[in-house]
Amino acid sequence: MTRNEQLFEQSQKVIPGGVNSPVRAFRSVGGTPVFFSRAKGSRVWDADGREYIDYVGSWGPAILGHAHPGTVKAVQDAAANGLSFGAPSEAELTIATRITQLLPSIEKVRLVSSGTEATMSAIRLARGFTGRSKFIKFEGCYHGHADFLLVKAGSGALTFGNPTSAGVPPEVAAQTLVLDYNDVAGLERTFAEIGNEIACIIVEPFAGNMNLVKPTAEFMAAMRRLCDAHGALLIFDEVMTGFRVDLGCAQKLLGIKPDLTTLGKVIGGGMPVGAFGGRADVMDALAPVGPVYQAGTLSGNPVAVAAGLATLAAVSEPGFYEGLAARTAKLVNGLSAAAKDAGVTFCADSVGGMFGLYFAAKPPASFAEVMQCDREKFNRFFHAMLDRGFYLAPSAFEAGFVSAAHTDADIDATIGAAREVFKTL
Ligand code: PMP
Repeated sequence: MTRNEQLFEQSQKVIPGGVNSPVRAFRSVGGTPVFFSRAKGSRVWDADGREYIDYVGSWGPAILGHAHPGTVKAVQDAAANGLSFGAPSEAELTIATRITQLLPSIEKVRLVSSGTEATMSAIRLARGFTGRSKFIKFEGCYHGHADFLLVKAGSGALTFGNPTSAGVPPEVAAQTLVLDYNDVAGLERTFAEIGNEIACIIVEPFAGNMNLVKPTAEFMAAMRRLCDAHGALLIFDEVMTGFRVDLGCAQKLLGIKPDLTTLGKVIGGGMPVGAFGGRADVMDALAPVGPVYQAGTLSGNPVAVAAGLATLAAVSEPGFYEGLAARTAKLVNGLSAAAKDAGVTFCADSVGGMFGLYFAAKPPASFAEVMQCDREKFNRFFHAMLDRGFYLAPSAFEAGFVSAAHTDADIDATIGAAREVFKTL
């Protein structure tokens, strides 16, 4: 038995499924999950000492590569001055100011400790501000695990074919309206019928929890137009896309200004940080100014904020996103060419440092199209790549991530390995 297998066996006795977040358990792809012992740059090492080139990056935060020296130093320095204050600090002002500079749609912002807290709080705020209960989400989008968001969700919830979780009361789920991603007619119909009951739309501006699915320009424009016409708020959930696709996030690339934005992952640089922010008049509905309650013992934690500030400083370097996007495009183009040469039905797409791999003839535009991809082929591809030392997301429904630490040689090695694997599929 390998050390990984031993650890997994023992973990299952004391941790449900042996993991602290479901998709880590490899249920979708089968086999034993890889227990990490160390991570540096583009590499991770498992409990048996095996090295992998990593395309998960802790599910997004590791945009600079693992254990980036500047971020580690900032964390060490901050830790020496106290791990948690539970009181305001200057670093919180600095990161809030930086976020408002980078995202013109955010006039005021509040920090939390996870993406789930950010989306949960943003929905509560939208409901409190508008005085309405219903909201719209899209099938296959994942916005964390708050009760009312676990309705036809993506990510781990999709992987298990169990989109609506047990434990969510039907009366809670009934307030969540689920439409198809990229379905303009569905949006128009819904707003025509009950537009004055809808508090908000929450959307992943590039969906990354049902593989990568890009929005059409019409879909984006319709959401903005319909929210404006009916007094609903538009929430961009940029927990994944924020500072992953561009310094101005997805909203800059798409040219749409949301009322509220949720952030996570990259803004914590690997430490637990989330944020939600937007229009000042909406944000001022939050306690202690307004009637919408929201709080957190560790919100704005000084060590986590230090990691976030160091990360934001590094991604703000000129040319950062051009380089990241070019390397990610090189990866997906190389994989597509290798599959074509092997006669495998496959394509791939990317935006910034985020990519999707599809065992299908063209990139999917909706959840239904995602479901048509060949999942069994993905699973074989995943394991063959893992055996060769390449760690991809262990599910056909997750986007992948390239970091600034991935070199051209890393990308070439990945394409080379995939070329061999495609021939065996
Ligand atoms: N929203 C999106 C778009 C996400 O991708 C995720 C996590 N993958 C979340 C929200 C929830 O974030 P967290 O896991 O930090 O709670």
